[in-house]
Amino acid sequence: MSTELNQSITVLKGIGEETAESFAEMRIYTIRDLLEYFPYRYEDYSLRDLTEVQHDEKITVEGKVHSEPSLNYYGRKKSKLVIRLFVGSYLIKVVFFNQPYLKNKINMNETITVTGKWDAHRQTITANEMQIGHNTKATDFEPVYSLRGKVTTKGMRKFIHLAFQQYGQHIEESLPETFLKKYRLLGKRDALKIMHSPNSPEEVKQARRRFVYEEFLLFQLKMQALRKFEREHSPGIKQKYDLSKIMELINSLPFPLTNAQKKVVNEILADLKSPYHMNRLLQGDVGSGKTVVAAIGLYAAVTAGYQGALMVPTEILAEQHAESLKSLLEPVNIRCELLTSSVKGKQRREILQNLIDGKVDILIGTHALIQDEVTFNKLGFVITDEQHRFGVEQRRILREKGENPDVLFMTATPIPRTLAITVFGEMDVSIIDEMPAGRKAIETYWAKPEMLERVLGFIEKELLKGHQAYVICPLIEESEKLDVQNAIDVHTTLSHFFQNRFKVGLMHGRLPSEEKEAVMKAFSENMVQILVSTTVVEVGVNVPNATMMVIYDAERFGLSQLHQLRGRVGRGSAQSYCILLASPKSEVGQERMRIMTETNDGFVLSEKDLELRGPGDFFGKKQSGVPEFKVADMVHDYRALETARNDASMLISSEVFWKDPQYLPLREKIKESGVLEGEKLD
Ligand code: ADP
Ligand code: MG
Repeated sequence: MSTELNQSITVLKGIGEETAESFAEMRIYTIRDLLEYFPYRYEDYSLRDLTEVQHDEKITVEGKVHSEPSLNYYGRKKSKLVIRLFVGSYLIKVVFFNQPYLKNKINMNETITVTGKWDAHRQTITANEMQIGHNTKATDFEPVYSLRGKVTTKGMRKFIHLAFQQYGQHIEESLPETFLKKYRLLGKRDALKIMHSPNSPEEVKQARRRFVYEEFLLFQLKMQALRKFEREHSPGIKQKYDLSKIMELINSLPFPLTNAQKKVVNEILADLKSPYHMNRLLQGDVGSGKTVVAAIGLYAAVTAGYQGALMVPTEILAEQHAESLKSLLEPVNIRCELLTSSVKGKQRREILQNLIDGKVDILIGTHALIQDEVTFNKLGFVITDEQHRFGVEQRRILREKGENPDVLFMTATPIPRTLAITVFGEMDVSIIDEMPAGRKAIETYWAKPEMLERVLGFIEKELLKGHQAYVICPLIEESEKLDVQNAIDVHTTLSHFFQNRFKVGLMHGRLPSEEKEAVMKAFSENMVQILVSTTVVEVGVNVPNATMMVIYDAERFGLSQLHQLRGRVGRGSAQSYCILLASPKSEVGQERMRIMTETNDGFVLSEKDLELRGPGDFFGKKQSGVPEFKVADMVHDYRALETARNDASMLISSEVFWKDPQYLPLREKIKESGVLEGEKLD
């Protein structure tokens, strides 16, 4: 690779220590960094037809002044100057803030050019640039960079121009000739040049297309190289399970497995048996029956002479899973134990001892499973439920409690294909895409908060049939800022409304765990008919007699979360209902409510959620693990992502790729990333 481009930017005239520091804030250190620092948008001064412009878009128009400018002061230094402007046959308003001196420059019947933001409702442009006369910049199309420190837009443009002049000839191609031809992509030097000084939006599109592909290809190559490396260098256990015993278990189930469940069980068994280390993600919508699949998988490991572990995010969930597993596995007579922080004293000591002695076959629990005191005898298979709630570190610890046990991550948050192949690119993915037969779709309605009375009547009707209801509130304490319903208030209101007829329970994260358990237990035994709760019931909880779910302030939740919540009902044979109480102000919010009422398909919802919220927000910022791309956009450039993925997998598995000189730049990038030493990507 060219060493010229790796020189510090200080070799450019005009960049001293101080400017270099500003550049460092933008992570620009070398000439290469500078040349590859892309504009995030372009200033477009071409004249637009007002009828084609969207609300809030930035535009430039030319028109004739139709009124004397009127100037108003407010506050000490603030002013607003308004004129009427004839643009073609439209009469619009133009507003200038805090530029009182323009009053004397603008004259009736004169032509002026204005650039600013278009408010379609008010037919007004809020101008930030103005020019007397016709538009002289119509053909300009200038890059705008995200800047830090003391670097100005002008400065940035100048330095990049200079860097091109002096070092442009050293820019080397990084994509193989064959791909450039195949996809008719621009060469790197030309594409870079265009990104920084394009003549038209069309040109930018072409240049961008090249970088999107390159970014995705590299990303996929690294992921897949890592996966190949892990396969070859971290051998797993070959678990010789007993198929006839497994079949015995399957035949003892109270229901036949769905085809999707069978398919996934087979995928898991194949991984267990193989000499490779299992690293698999199991996605299945709420209620699709992941627990049975987990039970069968864990049992398979037990028949091979290993122990299994199931780790879940909350105690309530751990208890429920322990119960379901015990009952599913009862016919095959193995030992399942629950370990959470509430299991104490003698009971705890016994479980831990039996675990070391290998007398416990399957251990189910929360984070308690990864504490130091927990030692397995022969851990072979680990399953984590709702995997995105566990940090990478915690998963590593659990893995190290065995000799590289097989690992399965289960999630009920259907992950859009787009994210699945980026965030989880180094994993195998199984999907349960079929619901058990006879499941009725949950009917979902969107109601305004004013309709609460009617909603309460609806709840009552269900309760009179002997069913139960969840009522979900976003927060437990009043917060003026968020203006959300207070769970305690709701509890009071409902208790009052239903008094002497039905019992209303309250559940939130601040309750001591014994109380939480007691409430949950009362609800699952139908001692309590209505459970008012914060989102702590979100995952896994299973009370089939509950047929009604009301969600307050539903607009505050993401689609995936609403879907998760809704999944608490519709678990029995009776028709279930979900009512979203919401009055979203934004169009996106309204769109979200509409989509919820239209589909029960978690995958459809997750794709929509991603579209509406963007990848960063999808998992929540902190543990997103969503890779950041410079130019590419996972959602909008999805097709390029798929193409790149296929190309990457073809390359990684071909011999030529590791030898042919045309692939050298790509190979070097893979090497730089460290994946060939088995290092994880971040
Ligand atoms: P998930 O964990 O995927 O949300 P569960 O494993 O809790 O779903 O299953 C939801 C319900 O469906 C449980 O009551 C379970 O017993 C039932 N179930 C699972 N598989 C089947 C099947 N193949 N046929 C009928 N019912 C099933
Ligand atoms: Mg589950």
